Amino acid sequence: MQETGSISIHTENIFPIIKKFLYSDHEIFLRELVSNAVDATQKLKSLAQLGEYQGEAGELKVTVSVDKEKRTITVSDRGIGMTAEEIKKYINQIAFSGATEFVEKYKDKDAAAKDQIIGQFGLGFYSAFMVAKEVEIFSKSYKEGTEAARWVCDGSTEFTLETTEKPERGTDVVLHVAEDSDEFLEEARLRGILEKYCRFLPVEIEFEGNVINQTQPLWTKQPSELTDEDYTKFYQELYPFSEKPLFWIHLNVDYPFNLTGILYFPKVKDELQLQRNKIQLYSRQVFITDEVKDVVPEFLMLLHGVLDSPDIPLNVSRSFLQADANVRKINQYITKKVADKLAEIFRKERSSFEEKWGDINLFVKYGMLSDDKFYDRAKDFGLLQSIAGKFYTFNEYKELVQANQVDKNGQSVLLYTTDEEAQHAYVVAAQERGYDVLNFNGPLDPHFIGLLEQKLEKTTFKRVDADTISKLIEKEETAESVLSDEEKTKLQELFAKAISNEHMHVQVEALAPQDAPVIITLPEFMRRMKDMQRVGSGGGMAMFGSLPDSYTVSVNANNPVAQRVLKADEEAATKLAKQAFDLALLAQGLLKGEALTQFVKRSAELLAAE
Ligand code: ADP
Repeated sequence: MQETGSISIHTENIFPIIKKFLYSDHEIFLRELVSNAVDATQKLKSLAQLGEYQGEAGELKVTVSVDKEKRTITVSDRGIGMTAEEIKKYINQIAFSGATEFVEKYKDKDAAAKDQIIGQFGLGFYSAFMVAKEVEIFSKSYKEGTEAARWVCDGSTEFTLETTEKPERGTDVVLHVAEDSDEFLEEARLRGILEKYCRFLPVEIEFEGNVINQTQPLWTKQPSELTDEDYTKFYQELYPFSEKPLFWIHLNVDYPFNLTGILYFPKVKDELQLQRNKIQLYSRQVFITDEVKDVVPEFLMLLHGVLDSPDIPLNVSRSFLQADANVRKINQYITKKVADKLAEIFRKERSSFEEKWGDINLFVKYGMLSDDKFYDRAKDFGLLQSIAGKFYTFNEYKELVQANQVDKNGQSVLLYTTDEEAQHAYVVAAQERGYDVLNFNGPLDPHFIGLLEQKLEKTTFKRVDADTISKLIEKEETAESVLSDEEKTKLQELFAKAISNEHMHVQVEALAPQDAPVIITLPEFMRRMKDMQRVGSGGGMAMFGSLPDSYTVSVNANNPVAQRVLKADEEAATKLAKQAFDLALLAQGLLKGEALTQFVKRSAELLAAE
């Protein structure tokens, strides 16, 4: 038998279109051909199991080989094979009808629509023409008494189909590599492609004498059969130079969608180096991409691992993916699983959870900030860390400060420091009042604090240096001032003149006599604006770019220094005021340069004086 024919298609040649637009990555041709070979092999296995194929199955592996001289790449399998009729049906008609439809829709469309259409067609077998100028198929069906067939096509719409001799069941697809695709004749290049896409295929793939894949990767096994060591070993295989993961979640659902996989929480060495796109997406063990955006919630993109789902539309464009109902469900499922896992560790091994908090708090906070449902799940295991190193859930912490840190309006005021060293004087002052101080020095913390204020009832956060200690948490009782109103005004003017800086707003306050003579604070509101700006929340905050520092200088009316200043002559009073002010700057870490030199000099003079 020999037959030539024309593939029924109304366009001159679809291959230039395929070649140019369908996939920007030409290398995926190998993935498509090897996947087809694997499918055919697995079908044969099933038939054998069902007793529908009773012949000798033989060694069911797929072989990929390259012949640089002949300029061919061959993918061979011992699967079910195809009869000539089946080649006509599956290769000519089905695949081509897809292509025809593709070209029909593709014509006359604008670029965006084209993207959409291109994405909807996985042309499978025909992707071979991205690298080949001619493709041959030699196939022999498993069905008894059928003849082997040879199909050849040069990338035009013409093909030849004839009977041929082929002793063994299965299919060989031979690509005659085009001149512009020489790179694919290199063994190293092919090996690289196979390792990328075929590493976990379920049937052995042999290339140049070696099997390149693991047919039963960890995620396809039952969690109950696996040890911690298995998981960490697999992680190390995926990410050879990474530290051990903190923990992992083995995903396994088959309804209402199919999803398996393992997600690892990495140990974060450096927050700035956090890497996204470390999760690999598979469909039935075939690698698809490591861009999992849209499939995995944004905040979980920091995780590592693999996801495998035949229900994710793989070739579709971005916008289509976002709208896909399965993808949305998968997203929610993953979020829930991650939250469940964290809740479980928290419940069962709280101390180990606390140990890991340093590494995981970024995920958890990011999750709470970006997903309300996640917040609702995480609010019971999200932690606050006090500077004493203790951890509290939000509820536990509110309980703790109930007695001492509720202001006169019934608001719980939670105090925090962003830098224990720099804000040391303020931290100590707060502790002396019996207040607890939290540690908030992560990159997301300014946003996280804002979130907690929205979510927790009657709660505000203040950095320890946001106000003088008595005003930080305002109670009913106000300290009496030993100064008359007149004296206060005089004191205020004197200090304002001595300091003479428009960003320093001087006020006289009745603080405790043992409190510092002068205290400089940056109001919470002002500082947050600046923090937001620094965290780089984008254009919206740009208007605050020119925001000047605006500090409050509180002169303590009840500290003996106030009396001394009032009694001294003008020169001595100015000197004292400056000195007290500089001390306050020093406590804020703000005394620098010329001012610092002056201060040192003045201190020496004051020490030398009687
Ligand atoms: P898809 O794999 O998405 O169905 P393809 O264009 O890759 O699309 O293949 C079309 C059909 O050709 C397959 O569904 C299968 O029936 C048949 N086929 C392709 N390659 C092989 C093979 N190696 N062995 C047997 N049948 C094959």
